[in-house]
Amino acid sequence: MLARIRSAAVLGIDAYLVDVEADIAAGLPSFTTVGLPQGAVREGRERVGASIVNSNFSFPLKKITVNLAPADVRKDGSAFDLPIALGILAATNQLNGNGSGRQRDPSDYVVVGELGLEGKLRPVRGALSIALGAKAAGLRGVVVPAENLAEAGVVSGIEVWGAECLRQVAEFYSTGRDLKLAKSSDTEAQLQPPAADVDFSDVKGQEHTKRALEVAAAGSHNVLLIGPPGSGKTMLARRIPTILTPASLQEALETTKIHSVAGLIQPGTSLVWARPFRAPHHTISDAGLIGGGSYPRPGEVSLAHGGVLFLDELPEFRKNVLEVLRQPLEDGNVTISRARMSLCYPARFMLAAAMNPCPCGFYGDPERNCCCGDVGVEKYRAKISGPLLDRIDMHIEVPSVPYRQLSDNRSGEPSSAIRERVYLARERQHKRFASRSGVFANAHMGPREIKQYCVSTDKAGNLLMNAISRLKLSARAYHRILKISLTIADLAGSEVIEAKHVSEAVQYRNLDRATV
Ligand SMILES: [Zn+2]
Repeated sequence: MLARIRSAAVLGIDAYLVDVEADIAAGLPSFTTVGLPQGAVREGRERVGASIVNSNFSFPLKKITVNLAPADVRKDGSAFDLPIALGILAATNQLNGNGSGRQRDPSDYVVVGELGLEGKLRPVRGALSIALGAKAAGLRGVVVPAENLAEAGVVSGIEVWGAECLRQVAEFYSTGRDLKLAKSSDTEAQLQPPAADVDFSDVKGQEHTKRALEVAAAGSHNVLLIGPPGSGKTMLARRIPTILTPASLQEALETTKIHSVAGLIQPGTSLVWARPFRAPHHTISDAGLIGGGSYPRPGEVSLAHGGVLFLDELPEFRKNVLEVLRQPLEDGNVTISRARMSLCYPARFMLAAAMNPCPCGFYGDPERNCCCGDVGVEKYRAKISGPLLDRIDMHIEVPSVPYRQLSDNRSGEPSSAIRERVYLARERQHKRFASRSGVFANAHMGPREIKQYCVSTDKAGNLLMNAISRLKLSARAYHRILKISLTIADLAGSEVIEAKHVSEAVQYRNLDRATV
């Protein structure tokens, strides 16, 4: 007899439906899975067999064939354990029920779950994407392991059920016994963004750097922080997400999908509201940074989607690793090609990088001597490739903080106040770029947009021309300064770029000035 159970798998960050067909025929006992099963699916046979027996069902000693369709899409992961077990039970008339007439039709629901040998369900990756996929396919609902219920339960308009073990799901079909249902009231309570655990008010001194980061956040400009060890570069960067505009529901859903596919969602979590902050170590591989691997997973650039990717000790990263950053910085996504398919993960993030001014860290320090020499400093800075540096609008000097400021008990301005100004500046940009696709903030402007939108007063224009000739700046640097000036004008609520906006923007091109 042939039975069919609906399931789903995730490709990239979206789910597609998979039909699990189980056929039981007379013959020597065997158990075959077809339809491109990868390692975990094959190992799943052992788990499926044991959990059927340990849940007090009988395992047929016949010729069992399980087919996962469509066959041409690669499937991995252990989420098929549960639908395969249910398929075998259905094909052996063990889901027929007690004649109460309360049976459920397996074709109405998508089921996923990994089985333990004793029949208990374990959580799966991508539960949110799977629930969204079931909804998009017009199905009645989805059955997920209980630990995924909060996450999948965010999806409204379909039934989302959570189960503890195989036996419960079997009875859900055969006798109509309900499982734990995700309640919309549960999820609505969690639809409130939680407070962040860090805040700019924790940072003493560094008023200049904080202002620079406010400008960066307001225009989505990538930044490079340059300062000696211990000046607080990491501490400052970690607080950038707290001054970005709060995530919308759509953005929170996207972040959650990516983190769920990567297996980073804590059990019981529904939506990831906080804008991500990712700080990979400089020894990271290409695949770790942009995604990939034999079972493709999103990389750090995608985990940082909607938030901040922080690269500390930028010159220590291998050159080819930094090279692969160029595509996501340009396109806002990454494409990973594999033998039989290509995957796309979202990757629109703000890049914050940090470096010491020289190998010893004390170049330009008023109190300590740098021992690197001009050649050493030059060599160190040359480690960052020109094309990557070209995508970083702002270079910000982060001086070490004098002791008297560190011991000052007054706390700085809270993130919420800064975020309010950033929000207003972003609103202006929203209106400005409403008709432009692919441009969301000032940082994304190309030469055409710069020409159209960067309107400056005569005084500001003259000041900029002077700065260009005095500092021998390139055309690229000129465009960068105009973009930053526009963001500063947005923060000030000004329609045009004024001289004071330009003079502030010029300060944020530290490396241009240093090479003169
Ligand atoms: Zn040095």
